[in-house]
Amino acid sequence: MPVKSQLRLPAELVDDLVAANRALARLNVVDAFGHVSLRDPRHPHRYLMSRSVAPESVTAADIVLYDLDSQTVDPRDDGKLHYRERFIHGEIYKARPDVNAVVHSHSPTVVPFTVTRAKLRPLLHNAGFLGLGVPLFEIRKTAGDGTDLMILTPQLGQALARKLGPDAAVVLMRGHGDSVVGPSLPNAVFRAYYTEINARQQLAAITIGGPINFLSRAEALTANAAMLRASARPWALWRQRALNED
Ligand SMILES: [Zn+2]
Repeated sequence: MPVKSQLRLPAELVDDLVAANRALARLNVVDAFGHVSLRDPRHPHRYLMSRSVAPESVTAADIVLYDLDSQTVDPRDDGKLHYRERFIHGEIYKARPDVNAVVHSHSPTVVPFTVTRAKLRPLLHNAGFLGLGVPLFEIRKTAGDGTDLMILTPQLGQALARKLGPDAAVVLMRGHGDSVVGPSLPNAVFRAYYTEINARQQLAAITIGGPINFLSRAEALTANAAMLRASARPWALWRQRALNED
């Protein structure tokens, strides 16, 4: 049983996570569904995430601490309803020590790229991280036909994390959405937003008529490294807007 001081969550971390939830809702990456989590920098075998509420309405009181098996470690939270798909987060943190934040969404323009032959590829420099690979998770391969397509068990979370692999920032989920990871919360929010933006722009480019001049792999990797630094600026703006709504 963790000691009490470890369960008291630092206010700044909680504010960051509240801001991330609201910002992703404002940016139309999440709607009433979707969730974002943050690895606890004090204890990397734990993560913070909201209890099961719509991201736009998350407040500090909703933030809960989980272990990497996605069980709450705070006995005071026993009565709270938790996101049913929380295994996405815990299993990715287990598989990817470099990941410190995860966004799962039903990002609307991304979904067509999960059900067609069109491959989501980086055409915008902000989305250079897509050059790290965009694997597609097919739930039928793990759980057969007839699921509701959701990641409701640790086993499905592990299969999703395996499909994400050691390098990618995004894993598409067929007929469902995507899960986006980053080394920091600002970067994961940035990547989730620009995954949606790149999908919109790729759809527009397809409509205008190809062929599309995508970023080369070398350009994508250089742009990704630059954006890891540059994501602090939009994050400061999004965080301030989100927290000033109160
Ligand atoms: Zn989902």
